[in-house]
Amino acid sequence: QAHLDRISAVDGQVHAFLHVSADAIAQAQRIDERRAAGEQLGALAGVPVAVKDVLCTIDMPTTAGSKILEGWIPPYDATPVAKLRAAGLVPLGKTNMDEFAMGSSTEYSAYGPTKNPWDLGRIPGGSGGGSAAAVAAFEAPLALGSDTGGSIRQPASVTGSVGVKPTYGGVSRYGAIALASSLDQVGPVSRTVLDAALLHDVIGGHDPRDSTSLTEPWPSFAAAARLGAGAESLKGTRIGVIKQLDSPGFQAGVSQRFHEALQLLTDFGAEIVEVDAPHFEYAVAAYYLILPAEASSNLAKFDSVRFGLRVTPEGGGTVEDVMAATREAGFGPEVKRRIILGTYALSAGYYDAYYGSAQKVRTLIQRDFAAAFEKADVLVSPSAPTTAFKFGEKLEDPMAMYLNDVTTIPANLAGVPGIGLPMGLAPEDGLPTGFQIMAPARADARLYEVGATLE
Ligand code: GLN
Repeated sequence: QAHLDRISAVDGQVHAFLHVSADAIAQAQRIDERRAAGEQLGALAGVPVAVKDVLCTIDMPTTAGSKILEGWIPPYDATPVAKLRAAGLVPLGKTNMDEFAMGSSTEYSAYGPTKNPWDLGRIPGGSGGGSAAAVAAFEAPLALGSDTGGSIRQPASVTGSVGVKPTYGGVSRYGAIALASSLDQVGPVSRTVLDAALLHDVIGGHDPRDSTSLTEPWPSFAAAARLGAGAESLKGTRIGVIKQLDSPGFQAGVSQRFHEALQLLTDFGAEIVEVDAPHFEYAVAAYYLILPAEASSNLAKFDSVRFGLRVTPEGGGTVEDVMAATREAGFGPEVKRRIILGTYALSAGYYDAYYGSAQKVRTLIQRDFAAAFEKADVLVSPSAPTTAFKFGEKLEDPMAMYLNDVTTIPANLAGVPGIGLPMGLAPEDGLPTGFQIMAPARADARLYEVGATLE
């Protein structure tokens, strides 16, 4: 009830939510009943959680921030949502996002932007700006996001929150509306590293409904976070600073806080090593070919026939006319831009030059990671090159918006896990900055262990 009251009080300004559950209190009462009946419930039972609107929910509309899905109520829950419910968490509502998770500012939501609670004139990051803002504004203690190129870590960074992109395959994608299937991962947003770990423990694990879901069991991430929080020293831990992501082009206050965090890690006894990742400079370019290619294919299902919006041209028309009119009316400008880019990159004659080359770069980036993890246990960088920018600042210039993802994209291309956590306010503008830690695939526990030492 306290969180619902908080939503009523501030969400008119923040606009983190697209839908607030009408049923949350009743669900909370049912959890009390389950507990009273003797059911063993986990640590998070009864805790409310906000859910990014990219995840299907059987009892709430799911729009992915698009007009093409306005009012659509899915016939099933996404696996991460089903796992929340089974563990006794209460979904509070659905959070705002850039349309189909394309963007870094939530300005591309078809339902209007979310505001950054730190400064309502600034973006809350994206695409999962709603989830991060809900947590930062104390409207929800926890949230789920999805991260294809940074959509959990970058919003966490600019709102002073914690966000985790798990190892690819660590959390089921079943029921998460696909942006780019080889990059997408669902993960937690929270205010502390331990909270993120507890939520990750709930949503993670094998799911036979996702063919890329990893089958091996996972260790307890909460235990890893507790271990880190209690550690007296980081002696023996090798922290790799990626030369290419410690750029003089980043905002001065971001670099300053980053180097202070490195000093802190050194003071704790960690060994800082510089690592070279020569192909990272091509990561943004490769990503913005691979992502649109996969997205253009994934979005073909929004055809006016199977679900969602249907627009019939005046005077009628063929099936194809109806599809064209529906997609014209239902998709926003960024989605259309990426469909055009993606279909072009995949078309006969251009496939090798664009999509094929991008896939080769992806392999080179994976090799950069493998070489770097020979020298370091974890790799670190700022989570984002700047603090929250002002609304409209990058809207007219898609390239400027894309370049904002330079720090987060490599992890998605390689499938490795990453955490973003607060590293203090930038002196020049008083806004949150974020520290990113990346680990080898399946070593997500290291993120929590090292991350917790920094809190
Ligand atoms: N900013 C990235 C993009 O626009 C992030 C997307 C994401 O992680 N969903 O593609």
